Amino acid sequence: MEDEVPAELFRAEVLNWARRIGVEPREIRIRRMSRKWASCSIAGRLTFDQGLLRQPGPVRTAVIIHELLHLKIPRHTKLFRALLSAYFHEKYPELEVPDLRQNGSGT
Ligand SMILES: [Zn+2]
Repeated sequence: MEDEVPAELFRAEVLNWARRIGVEPREIRIRRMSRKWASCSIAGRLTFDQGLLRQPGPVRTAVIIHELLHLKIPRHTKLFRALLSAYFHEKYPELEVPDLRQNGSGT
């Protein structure tokens, strides 16, 4: 386990990826979620599990990209997965995209 990243740093990561992907989340919340890493409302509000702050960088990154992409593509289509993989590999070219289902339904 890595040390916990501060919430403000996590938020900055989300905003950086939002700019990269070209979406504008209306609100970013971090709180305890029991069954998911994150969720996204139709109105563009993203909520992230605070447990993510203790996850390794690649897991945080995959969840952040996944959730932001939902602002563009609501469902897990082939295009969705292709874009997720492409953005993830910009930062971690040599890693597999982490499987996020270990904490319930993913996102
Ligand atoms: Zn999803």
